[in-house]
Amino acid sequence: MSEQKAALATRPEILLIEDDPQIRKFLRVMLMAEDYRFYEATAGVEGLAQAATRNPDLVLLDLGLPDRDGVELIRDIRKWSQMPIVVISARGLERDKIEALDAGADDYVTKPFTPGEVSARIRAALRRAAVLDKNEPSEIVNFGNITMNLAARKVSVGGADVHLTPNEYKLLLVLLRHSGKVLTQRQLLKEVWGPEHVEDREYLRVFMSQLRHKLEADPAHPKYLMTEPGIGYRLLTEP
Ligand code: CA
Repeated sequence: MSEQKAALATRPEILLIEDDPQIRKFLRVMLMAEDYRFYEATAGVEGLAQAATRNPDLVLLDLGLPDRDGVELIRDIRKWSQMPIVVISARGLERDKIEALDAGADDYVTKPFTPGEVSARIRAALRRAAVLDKNEPSEIVNFGNITMNLAARKVSVGGADVHLTPNEYKLLLVLLRHSGKVLTQRQLLKEVWGPEHVEDREYLRVFMSQLRHKLEADPAHPKYLMTEPGIGYRLLTEP
C-alpha cells in the first residue's frame, strides 16, 4: 500500500446527518480542512441506513430532521452500535440536549457554532472511543495533582490522601469512566443513587460541591469537575 493510501485508510470516517444545506456546507468545509473522510445524509432514514451499512467512526447528527426525530435515531443506533454520536442542536433547547444525551449521544454543539468548537468535540469523542476500544482500564489515573488508585479505591491530592464517602467516590468514578463526556443529571443520579432517585437533583449539587471542596484548588472555579449549565456535569482530565 502506498503511503498516501495508508494515511487515507487511517483517517477517521464521519457521517454527517443534516438537512440544512447551509450548515452542511459549513461543516463540509470544516471536515475537509481537518482532513476527515466523510459522507452526508439529508434525512433520518437515509442517515440510519448509511450508519448501518458504512459503519462510520463518528456520526454528526442534527436533531431537527424532516422525516425522523434525531433522538429516536440515537436510540436506534444504540441498539446495535456504540459509535460516537455528536449532536448538532439549536440554541436554547436544553431539553433536547438532555434527551439526546440520555438516549446515548456522546456530546453536542449548539448552533451557531464555530468550526473550532465542532472539530474539538469530534476529536474528543474519537479519542474517547479509541481509549474504550483498547479496553484496558488502568488502575492508577492521574489528572493535575489528583491521583485515583482504582484498585485500592483511594484518592489523593498532591500526594496527600483525601477521604471520600462511598457515594462521593462512586460519583467521581462514574465521571471518570466517561471523562470528557457530558453526563446528564439523570444519568449521574441513576448510576450513583439508583433509578428511584433520578429526580433528586439536590443530591448532585451537594455531592459535587463536596467533591470540589476536597479535590479542586479553587472550588468556585473548578478545573476538573465542570458544570454544564442546565444539563449536567463533565470531568475534564486533560487541559
Ligand atoms: Ca434541521
